[in-house]
Amino acid sequence: MTFYIVAMPIGNLKDISERALETLRSVNLILCEDTRVTAKLLSHFDIQKPLQSYHQHSQLSKVAYVLEELKKGKDIALVSDAGTPGISDPGNKLIEYLIGKLPGLKIVPIPGPCAATAALSVSGFPIDKFVFLGFPPHKKGREKFFKELAKEEKTAVFYESPHRMEKCLNQLKEFLPADRKIVICRELTKMFETIYRGTMDNITIPKNEIKGEFVVVLCR
Ligand code: SAM
Repeated sequence: MTFYIVAMPIGNLKDISERALETLRSVNLILCEDTRVTAKLLSHFDIQKPLQSYHQHSQLSKVAYVLEELKKGKDIALVSDAGTPGISDPGNKLIEYLIGKLPGLKIVPIPGPCAATAALSVSGFPIDKFVFLGFPPHKKGREKFFKELAKEEKTAVFYESPHRMEKCLNQLKEFLPADRKIVICRELTKMFETIYRGTMDNITIPKNEIKGEFVVVLCR
């Protein structure tokens, strides 16, 4: 019984690793976020495996089912729709639960793409140390998030949804110093990949480009 945590591409399917493919081909069951998304990826690589959806708030019955399958000696892989499981995605609660119930369980990472590390890697900012902040809160606590960001002494990276990206840019400009350097990565590894670089006072994203997926990196 082995539980594999398998990173998926963040757009470009060629970024899947040989080990990830080998693992997905070898396991008895794949736990994923959206079975339609993972089924599409598996079909691209001609892999046929049983899929079960798993969310951070999945019922205890689902979690207990995973535990029982592992106890029977089955190998299971956990994937998310994109990137590395657990990074602003489900996974950690399940892993914590399984460690508690099956202390001998072998948990194996199959590392690979992650939007945050991809964005950091092209930022050109010092990234010997950085903080990852997930998504800014939607409403309550959102202003506080940006005010605290202004005081952050390390390079910071966070995700933002396209619906809130314009608001995010306005709030960054409102709360952070004008000369703070920023890199915004859009649609990494995909056809419309764009990297916007600037400082808080001059960074802009054309209105018609505020769509797709975004990662924001702020220099320390
Ligand atoms: N687990 C994923 C990872 O390892 O990067 C992140 C999952 S989180 C739910 C999804 C967010 O990641 C998106 O809203 C976006 O902010 C960022 N993201 C994912 N793929 C991206 C891409 N190709 N380009 C830019 N940002 C991306």
